[in-house]
Amino acid sequence: MRQIACESCGKSFEFDEELPRRGPICFGCHLRTIRLGFTHGKEDFHGPTIKERQDLQVAQAASAGINAAPVGTRWV
Ligand SMILES: [Zn+2]
Repeated sequence: MRQIACESCGKSFEFDEELPRRGPICFGCHLRTIRLGFTHGKEDFHGPTIKERQDLQVAQAASAGINAAPVGTRWV
């Protein structure tokens, strides 16, 4: 076990031989970052959903004479 000061809150925390992939950030701050990212992701709900955007793309492609079925529903 080694100790390092968290880059975000300055609290020292322990880690195994290798530094966590998240960097010199304690677990508490790491969790906060995840939650922040989650809040940002929520903005997607205000705009068109991914499905709506996909439908739009397919409709545009269809009017251009292209059969652009979304990947995953198309027969392979
Ligand atoms: Zn921290």
